[in-house]
Amino acid sequence: MKNELAEKRLFHVKICMKCNARNPWKAESCRKCGYAGLRGKAKESRV
Ligand SMILES: [Zn+2]
Repeated sequence: MKNELAEKRLFHVKICMKCNARNPWKAESCRKCGYAGLRGKAKESRV
């Protein structure tokens, strides 16, 4: 399904724990503030 793919892409990001900016999955530090505290957002929105 197309939706499934879109969702995977949506969750395939890292969230900066400092400024909450979305970064590419491969990013090692926030592109916005440079903070290295990124965490993946996999399946977090699903309860
Ligand atoms: Zn940041």
